[in-house]
Amino acid sequence: MMGKHYDVVVIGSGPAGYVAAIRASQLGLTTACVEKWVDEDNQTKFGGTCLNVGCIPSKALLDSSYKFHEAQEGFDIHGIKVGKPKIDVAKMMDRKNSVVSQLTGGIKSLFGANKVDGLSGIGTVLGDNQIRITAQDGTVFNVSAKNIIIASGSVPITIAPTPVDNEVVVDSTGALDFDEVPKRLGVIGSGVIGLELGSVWARLGSQVVVLEALDEFLPMADKQIAKEALKIYKKQGLDIQLGSRVTGSNVSGGANRTVIVEFSNSQGDHQITFDKVIVAVGRRPYLDDLLDDGLGIELDDRGRIKVNAHCETNLPSIYAVGDVTRGPMLAHKGSEEGVMVAERIAGKMTQVNYDLVPSVIYTHPEVAWVGKNEEELKADGIEFNVGVFPFAASGRALAANDAEGMVKLLADSNTDRILGCHIVGASAADLLQQIVIAMEFSASAEDIGLTMFSHPALSEAVHEAALAANGHAIHIGNRKRR
Ligand code: FAD
Ligand code: NAD
Repeated sequence: MMGKHYDVVVIGSGPAGYVAAIRASQLGLTTACVEKWVDEDNQTKFGGTCLNVGCIPSKALLDSSYKFHEAQEGFDIHGIKVGKPKIDVAKMMDRKNSVVSQLTGGIKSLFGANKVDGLSGIGTVLGDNQIRITAQDGTVFNVSAKNIIIASGSVPITIAPTPVDNEVVVDSTGALDFDEVPKRLGVIGSGVIGLELGSVWARLGSQVVVLEALDEFLPMADKQIAKEALKIYKKQGLDIQLGSRVTGSNVSGGANRTVIVEFSNSQGDHQITFDKVIVAVGRRPYLDDLLDDGLGIELDDRGRIKVNAHCETNLPSIYAVGDVTRGPMLAHKGSEEGVMVAERIAGKMTQVNYDLVPSVIYTHPEVAWVGKNEEELKADGIEFNVGVFPFAASGRALAANDAEGMVKLLADSNTDRILGCHIVGASAADLLQQIVIAMEFSASAEDIGLTMFSHPALSEAVHEAALAANGHAIHIGNRKRR
């Protein structure tokens, strides 16, 4: 069956794809977005990993578990007496699921409001501007498009020593759906997912052991910030074992199955028994059924679709955005690429500033950074000033009894231009955003220093870190006085 012709067909409705589709349609381009994911009632599930099994459900559980943890340990100091809180896991999951439904349903409405055709089925790029769509019920039809945007996303990586059965050994999706709090939880990988989901279950009472193959903790972060974060996570009870390579696992038992995980580190070979294990060792680009044989789209050495700075592939009028291509696997990176591609198709000259992609780990405290870190600047031979302000010196952080961590700001010592900002602390993601904006405008540390900040607010720590970079913070001693 021959289908419609569009200006733009987007394959995949995650944050890269649905945003690209909406923007393209806003610009007057006839647009469809193809999504293969359906629920148990055969209804299309828009929103991709992020809305369905990623950013949103994980944050819902992080927020619920943080409230539980506060009720358990954070109230007494404020003079609030409550009984021992209990967790109703089923209710917590229901809330998480309803937040997800609200948002995924919202995409359906946004498609309607923006005149994007949401098409259900697996999209396969055939060449000659044709896309084959294979619906869940087996119906097959083609649509054609002047421009094709591939936004097929990513899926969890699995490793041979710990095969995922999604009952005892789970991936990130399974870890969002436990029906009870596991007593002993193993987490393989101390990356973003391991830390966020490990924190959720640790707050609810699991004894959590994190096995990380590398010797270094958070190697992509500024060393000082990573060291501070590690200290805080350990204090919270996450038993993070660096330099520990998992070598095998053995699931056994009847109704209450457990898993023995074998690993080796510099002290030798070890085994630990867990009730559940989360495998969180990274994600890989997802290309199954996407490209017709002989299409000739180029991939890079990590199996991602190869693109230039404007997300153009080697084939004319075919673009790739989001996790399926190079760069950090982050929702906001994909969305900005989606907007850029839609706007460029419509004749605009939009670009993405890849130097300013913020990173956040949504634990408590949060860890967030943007731009270069100290180690990168040293390696590049750039001279820089460092301004550090600890939250322990922030009136607002102390008032909230939430004063762990610091803001660290790096500025060029010749031009004073801000080169990076690294935060571990409460609300780090939101605090960082003001520096992302400042850096987008090429601000100097002095620009931030001369800006008036409300008192008392956590953001004053950012102000003080900027002052400290030039040696004149008010509420701490300065490394250098200028
Ligand atoms: P995806 O969201 O993966 O969407 C791709 C879509 O394409 C899917 O719906 C898929 O079904 C569909 N698809 C694939 N192939 C086809 C085909 N052939 N035909 C039709 N449809 C197809 N990032 C953040 O920035 N912040 C966070 O807090 C965060 N938290 C996360 C927590 C977890 C637990 C996980 C797993 C990830 C998290 N991420 C977070 C990462 C984020 O989810 C991804 O970076 C983001 O979803 C990538 O968007 P995307 O649109 O490229 O791909
Ligand atoms: P990751 O790359 O962040 O971390 C994986 C960790 O597993 C690394 O530290 C790695 O050294 C370790 N590892 C790899 N193989 C191992 C092995 N065999 N044994 C032990 N450790 C091993 O990946 P992730 O945590 O799975 O997250 C996947 C992606 O999802 C990330 O790219 C991230 O950007 C994205 N994500 C983002 C957020 C956020 O923005 N807050 C949250 C969750 C996920």
